[in-house]
Amino acid sequence: MLKDRFRPDADYRMFIGGEWVAAPDSFEAVDPSLGSAWAAIGNGTAGQADAAVDAARRALPSWQRSTPATRQALLAAIADRIEANAELFARLLPTENGRPVREVAIADLPASAAIYRYYAGLTRAHRGDQIPVEDPHSLVYTVREPLGVIAAILPWNSPLITTANKLAPALACGNTVVLKPSEFASASVLEFVALIADLLPPGVVNVVTGFGPGVGAALVGHPDVAKVTLTGGGPTARAVMATAAGALTPTIMELGGKGAMIVAKDADLDRAVADAALGIYLANGEACIASSRLLLHSSIAEEFLGRFAALASTITVGDALDPATQVGPLVSRPHFDRVNGHLQRAREQGVRVLAGDEELVLDPVNRNGFFLRPTLLHDPSGTADVVTSEVFGPVTVAESFTDYDEVVERANGTRYGLAAGVWTTDLARAHRIAGDLRAGIVWVNKWFDLPAGAPMGGVKDSGFGRELSWETMLEYSAPKTVNIDLGAPRFPLWG
Ligand code: NAD
Repeated sequence: MLKDRFRPDADYRMFIGGEWVAAPDSFEAVDPSLGSAWAAIGNGTAGQADAAVDAARRALPSWQRSTPATRQALLAAIADRIEANAELFARLLPTENGRPVREVAIADLPASAAIYRYYAGLTRAHRGDQIPVEDPHSLVYTVREPLGVIAAILPWNSPLITTANKLAPALACGNTVVLKPSEFASASVLEFVALIADLLPPGVVNVVTGFGPGVGAALVGHPDVAKVTLTGGGPTARAVMATAAGALTPTIMELGGKGAMIVAKDADLDRAVADAALGIYLANGEACIASSRLLLHSSIAEEFLGRFAALASTITVGDALDPATQVGPLVSRPHFDRVNGHLQRAREQGVRVLAGDEELVLDPVNRNGFFLRPTLLHDPSGTADVVTSEVFGPVTVAESFTDYDEVVERANGTRYGLAAGVWTTDLARAHRIAGDLRAGIVWVNKWFDLPAGAPMGGVKDSGFGRELSWETMLEYSAPKTVNIDLGAPRFPLWG
């Protein structure tokens, strides 16, 4: 059965200076549940990236002088618009990137709206300091000023949330923005911006679409961009930083992860198994914070794996627009091939498949879609490549341990450091392991909880900079020191 898929009225245009602008050519967006094209996205040029930066630069003087109340009202209104258009997003997100429709209402929409509301509140608390100095004849204070034009380079996996994580704090601080969505999730960002366009002064938010090395690189290297913020993979991050270096432009990097979940012998196994499944199978496993690695104490490993495999084999895989679907398709054919490449290599290295090998029964309309069964791999010694590589799909790999010091060393033994977690009912062990894990986020007896206000970001190859928090306001603003003479006597140094 062909579900009620999202279809645009026309080919997509870009949004520059408050106008919808066509690109000279376009590329196809492919519906991952069907494997067929559903929309045409503009392939923007370097000249159009320049025009977008120019529009954002021209909008800056007036927007940076807007009052906190104005910025607060805008961000709150954006949150309301998202909620008022839940039905549009419930068709659009599954059509574009394969997000299961049941998750749109419980994850993407509330999380996005919450981010805009959080920063709406922070606009009223964003302030400088009065600096205590020795000289009684000086008054020194700081004001926090916006940086200027922000270039935000977005990934495909959660387009509404990743847009919110960059756009909301950038606008809250008084910056103007050029968004560059992923080539695999441009329509979601363009439809979102179309929904809020009437709320925005022209040029405050702009969108250019196209490919990374083309329009993306032109944007990143533009001398009038004050900061680049990227959510994406490591190779992209290196290319973006090299380009940004040419114009001495600072960056924020939200990159990949290999979320290590340690399960101690005293863990509540019911909750640990359920949260491990949530951590890897939500969002089709296409999440940087996924629980893609399980380190199980040897005394509970067999029971944990039995329960987890049984749960994984009951998961319904299918069309992202079907409300019964629990895991949808991977985003694209190249990504599907990449994930299968990881699985193939794991098999060659002797890793056992405990769940995921069952036959995939699909509706005939989905026969060209990019589907994979939720997979559980077992590599007791934890030495196969898949143990340390980011797969970015519904695939988790389990290993066993007996010693708690050794397991922390193993958990820390990847290039990544984004999310990690420990399951234990021993309070001292929980604190000790939480302290020793090298990651930006550590969960204890839970997973996938990212409340607005709690800094989100990584260490090592997972990047730098923090989103979703008060600290983010410091990423998108700079202190200006004002130092005022209150009548200090001058030393007669020059006669
Ligand atoms: P990607 O790195 O392939 O692409 C990200 C964006 O960068 C896209 O918009 C792309 O067009 C652009 N880009 C590529 N090359 C560029 C260049 N030379 N100059 C400018 N822009 C360029 O990533 P993806 O496949 O879209 O997303 C998946 C990756 O993102 C995974 O590694 C995942 O872990 C990571 N991710 C991280 C977070 C986080 O918050 N830490 C969140 C989601 C995804």
